[in-house]
Amino acid sequence: MTRRRWIADEVSDNHAAITGDHADHLIRVLRARVGQEFDIATGAVVRRGRIVSIRATRVEFELGEAVPAASPVNVTLLLAVFKFDRMEWAIEKCTELGVARIVPVVARRTDAHLAAASAKRADRWRRLALQASEQSCRATPPEIAAAVKLKVATSLPGARRIVLAESENQTQLRHVLSSAEGEILLAVGPEGGWTEDELQLFQTAGWMSASLGPTILRAETAAIAATAIVISALGG
Ligand code: SAM
Repeated sequence: MTRRRWIADEVSDNHAAITGDHADHLIRVLRARVGQEFDIATGAVVRRGRIVSIRATRVEFELGEAVPAASPVNVTLLLAVFKFDRMEWAIEKCTELGVARIVPVVARRTDAHLAAASAKRADRWRRLALQASEQSCRATPPEIAAAVKLKVATSLPGARRIVLAESENQTQLRHVLSSAEGEILLAVGPEGGWTEDELQLFQTAGWMSASLGPTILRAETAAIAATAIVISALGG
């Protein structure tokens, strides 16, 4: 049976702690007891942890041997901001799949009020990514960057930079992954799609465009499908 995994809020030598709201689920929902064992992620290393004390908003662990942990695949997902409930679903699922970083992008067809509200929403996206990381037994949660404008997004560095475009009918995503090494950047458009001049901007900046097939996918479906294809191709 897989031991439940927690990402520590505090670590010092052979001790770690989970605190505040983060500890709430462990204390009140899972009714944790002293002596119980869990996997505790302490940065890149995951170690066996035995509960030594439980207080109102703090659970302390004594750390033992390291346990095997999957290494994250170096995939960055650039996600054009779209309706929050569905965008958050994509954040949760792509975290489970193993993305290393998520960068929200304000695209031309991103609703203005969503663009304005995205800065305030970032903490909630980070909490979601932390919970999904623990649930999927990751060692570290993905970085959730602050939202950027498209011009900044197209200039982000990466070994292979791929914009997903439903208008692309030559190149399939799986065909542009062979011998890919280093960081992969995947860009998924908003509900209304990328505009022609945005796709031009990507191309001018040296991005490849790729298709996910003949059908038009919702943005969250495209994000999850593209992430799964890349991570399985890179052997994550
Ligand atoms: N512009 C489209 C429309 O409304 O007719 C839909 C855009 S789609 C909902 C949102 C984003 O998902 C697109 O910008 C693209 O990045 C991605 N996407 C959807 N279907 C795709 C496909 N078949 N191939 C590649 N990307 C796709």
